[in-house]
Amino acid sequence: MEEYYIGIDLGGTNIRIGLVDEGDQVGDLVYLSVKEYASWDDLLTDLVSIIKKMEVNRVRAVGVAVAGGVVISKGIVSYSPHVRWIDGQPVRENLAKAIDLPVWMDNDANAVTYGEWMYGAGKGSSSIICLTLGSGVGGGIILNRVLHRGEDGLAGEIGHMCVQPNGRPCRCGKKGCLEAYSSGTAISTIYRERDRNGAIDDDIKPLQVYEKATGGDSLALEVFEGFGGHLGIAIANLVNVFSIHHYIITGGVSRAWELFSHPLEEALEANLFHPHKGRVKVLQGQLGDKAGVIGVARMAQEYLRSELQ
Ligand SMILES: [Zn+2]
Repeated sequence: MEEYYIGIDLGGTNIRIGLVDEGDQVGDLVYLSVKEYASWDDLLTDLVSIIKKMEVNRVRAVGVAVAGGVVISKGIVSYSPHVRWIDGQPVRENLAKAIDLPVWMDNDANAVTYGEWMYGAGKGSSSIICLTLGSGVGGGIILNRVLHRGEDGLAGEIGHMCVQPNGRPCRCGKKGCLEAYSSGTAISTIYRERDRNGAIDDDIKPLQVYEKATGGDSLALEVFEGFGGHLGIAIANLVNVFSIHHYIITGGVSRAWELFSHPLEEALEANLFHPHKGRVKVLQGQLGDKAGVIGVARMAQEYLRSELQ
């Protein structure tokens, strides 16, 4: 009988839950909205009732991916910039107790990276780096077939790599971070700031800037050029440090690919140490918004295997 795993991807805006088989097949995702919840207890109650409606007698383990720092050994979130009420909560223990299944917990960008590496645009490579472009910029690193977590599990914070000394302020408190140029939030903010007519809606969304750009609006096109250029600088720095040649760009904003991929390639080539020139491939993710669910479900499966050994 086929066994299943459940993946829960708890992002800054959306929560996605899906039943995953032993491969990359995932059933229809259940979506919840983070802003509907005021506490971890409220969300836990709903997660448990959703999980119990899935084929729970055939589910072997559950994986939870959370946007923010995750202390893997303890199964808690050390810091989540978007979902503050989850900070310090014993997520893994609470969930495992409520559903009586083993639970694995990890960072959301790590889960996306793992999913894309196993089944998507990273399949077959021994080392990849994945950048997730959403309201912020996340990242994950697979180094010689192992997810590289770094000390304190904080590896892959590519969004806070400096790409412009004394540049734009970032919400982390530093200046010139990649996230301040190449995220959904940055697209809206930069467009609004540069709009000389001042006629722009205060909460213009990245999608609206994208639509303006595809309609030929020169300011919007410029914003995406800067977006791609800074991304290219960041990737060149990663290549120069890791000597990894395979990059994956994913997340909601990656859909604007045709608007930023050329400036990205240009900045990348211009900033590469010469032995790397012409050898780096940057690809779009293939699993869309299911990548995190699939990735963390697979991590849960591997956790279970290691526990049983
Ligand atoms: Zn930052």
